[in-house]
Amino acid sequence: ATPTALLVGTGRGAQLGIVIKGPEVLESTRAVDTVVLDKTGTVTTGAMSLVDVVGDPGTLRWAAAVEAASEHPVARAVVAGHAGALPPVEDFANQAGRGVTGTVEGRRVRVGRVEDAGRWADVVRDAEAAGRTVVSVAVDDEVRGVLVVADTVRPSSAAAVAQLRDLGLAPVLLTGDGVGAAAAVARQVGLDPDAGEVVAGVLPEGKVDVVRRLQEQGRVVAMVGDGVNDAAALVQADLGLAMGTGTDVAIEAGDVTLVRADLVAAADAVRLSRRTLRTIQ
Ligand code: ADP
Ligand code: MG
Repeated sequence: ATPTALLVGTGRGAQLGIVIKGPEVLESTRAVDTVVLDKTGTVTTGAMSLVDVVGDPGTLRWAAAVEAASEHPVARAVVAGHAGALPPVEDFANQAGRGVTGTVEGRRVRVGRVEDAGRWADVVRDAEAAGRTVVSVAVDDEVRGVLVVADTVRPSSAAAVAQLRDLGLAPVLLTGDGVGAAAAVARQVGLDPDAGEVVAGVLPEGKVDVVRRLQEQGRVVAMVGDGVNDAAALVQADLGLAMGTGTDVAIEAGDVTLVRADLVAAADAVRLSRRTLRTIQ
């Protein structure tokens, strides 16, 4: 019965858009009790758009000039939100999980996570409370404005979180984004920031440590992610699930690829793997 059951599992998996790398992956799904969910691109679509610019005139132009050299979803939103020609950037540098810097028209411009909100602390707080990502723009080390970027929670993410709980998995939202934005997105999908279900402000290299710490507490961890910065955590996790819409690096790092851009596929993968295991044993 073994080959037939595996075949059924694989066939049904193909229907559901779940690609499992090998039979040993099925075994990993049995004991998982925790699921770490990357926010941007996993719980949300990751297709961001610029919704607000607050600051001195020229803020958006300077920011867009530097972001034109970056592939980050925030960068794409900022560049798309600017109309007109952009001045060239020199000495561009990307600091993963923090932001970008470059020289524009002889001025040093930094766009990235808000360390100092300058005169716009209220704007930052309100936008983050609405689940938006906010970045600050500094010119020659002085904060000149903030840019508000909106992402979209995938419509099925709340249902997926409920299904993962039903499967006995404790969900944790993990992100490099700020605490406020993370908490707002968490609430939209049925996660409780006050119950330790959100870990925010994590630098790219810190994601793997969050998974390791959970494992050290005795948890068996599944991780769902899409980004380059999720790859190490996907490898470290007992079960790594990569969004098929994600980066090649993440897909390579995962044990399972979720072809559908939908978090429900993660619950489907765990359910199907467990069912297939029961059939063959
Ligand atoms: P996530 O974990 O949600 O995928 P990242 O680790 O990619 O997020 O980024 C974390 C934070 O770093 C972003 O929310 C943003 O504040 C800042 N950041 C990263 N790259 C950029 C960029 N190119 N421009 C502006 N801000 C950036
Ligand atoms: Mg992501």
